[in-house]
Amino acid sequence: VSFSTLDTIAAIATPAGRGGIGVVRVSGPDAVAVARVLTGRTTPFEVRRATLARVAGTDSAIVTVFEAPASYTGEDVVEISAHGSPVVLRAILVAAVAAGARLARPGEFTFRAFLNGRIDLPQAEAVADLVDAVTPLQARTASDQLDGTLTRAIASIDAQLFDLIAKLEASVDFPDEGYHFVQPEEIARALDDLLGRTGALLAQSRRGRLIREGLRVVIVGRPNVGKSSLFNALAGAARAIVTEVPGTTRDLVTEVVDVDGLRTTLVDTAGLRDARDRVEAEGVSRARGARAAADLVLVVVDRSQALEADDRAVLAETRQERRLVVVNKIDLPGAWPLESLGDRGECVAVSAVTSEGLEELRQRVCRALDAEGLEDPPAITNVRHIALVEQAREALTRARLAAGTPDGALSEEFVLADLQDAREALEEVTGRRTPDDVIAHIFERFCIGK
Ligand code: GDP
Repeated sequence: VSFSTLDTIAAIATPAGRGGIGVVRVSGPDAVAVARVLTGRTTPFEVRRATLARVAGTDSAIVTVFEAPASYTGEDVVEISAHGSPVVLRAILVAAVAAGARLARPGEFTFRAFLNGRIDLPQAEAVADLVDAVTPLQARTASDQLDGTLTRAIASIDAQLFDLIAKLEASVDFPDEGYHFVQPEEIARALDDLLGRTGALLAQSRRGRLIREGLRVVIVGRPNVGKSSLFNALAGAARAIVTEVPGTTRDLVTEVVDVDGLRTTLVDTAGLRDARDRVEAEGVSRARGARAAADLVLVVVDRSQALEADDRAVLAETRQERRLVVVNKIDLPGAWPLESLGDRGECVAVSAVTSEGLEELRQRVCRALDAEGLEDPPAITNVRHIALVEQAREALTRARLAAGTPDGALSEEFVLADLQDAREALEEVTGRRTPDDVIAHIFERFCIGK
């Protein structure tokens, strides 16, 4: 990560396109000087005060100055709120660059906040998660992490570790002093406590991951059973092409939707029947690929028509997978009894046209994924954090084993080494000891202006 923080950076912070307001953000040592040039102002700006000014000779705008270190980045920051016109915003940005700023890279404002100690790495990651959130639960979880829930949980485990390490080091450094700085039982007790706390954090990790990453639900079935209609009904928008000619959905159509608080990527497939032409064969193979990557498969069958060999084939092929059988078109007269499907526990009867049964389907999707009880946001959601806390827990488990052995001085050294490993893993979570390429990778995900 080789960004210089001596530069002053500038970017349009609002999304591309037209809107009520658009914001250009400037941060760095020359931010206020840039704002002076842009507005032609000779008197100083009042800090944290909205100031109306004509900017870059084009538009009147509201200029707000934040002084270091009390700003988003920890540097001098100027935010210019202008009319949300791409032309106006671009003109302001160009003028800012002419006045000495350079274009900011993706995530560079947040990166500076991290470098300047305003936030730690999980908080920076939470900013990106919050911007990407699709469901209110995702937003709440990210916002909690930005507030520091994970930061505090890790800090308190780390503080206890630090304390234990200090005592053990004293014992190892002064082995002949005739007294122990820490009793073996005390070490064991402290380690049990630390194991309990990392375990509690990790106990939420499956749910946390589910909330953050969301899941993939793939819709399969022979042509014309209503896959696209179901997809649209669940997605709440007419995105997939609905047609009465079998086999026309030849590509995978995906949409990210909120299913009972879960970020769900819905995938509509071309169907899993034997390919009758080349284009469709391509679709079928993609459908198989999509199914393999799915957290849940929805197998759609048509209740209004007799089951065909293609239906049976799809039902048989998906038997081993996590699936729900969606019996569609129940608004029409039924051509066969539900019992004929065998295990009715995995069936949901719906009509993609009238929406009957869709609410139950949504709930059953959550239940099938053990995703219930998603009301309160867990503290840990990100695989990077989960993997490192797991690493810390393994080191603590090793330390606990070593602490249990009778050989005093030797095992203290072992315990110490394991505790240092645990600390290193935790410090990699917070960013205090994170490799540069990992940090660079994290900030690459951000949008420009964030
Ligand atoms: P796909 O090939 O499986 O994607 O099927 P489509 O979604 O394209 O639907 C095929 C036909 O069935 C269309 O004419 C839909 O309007 C109709 N259809 C789909 N779902 C229902 C339903 O629940 N009830 C009724 N009456 N028709 C449906």
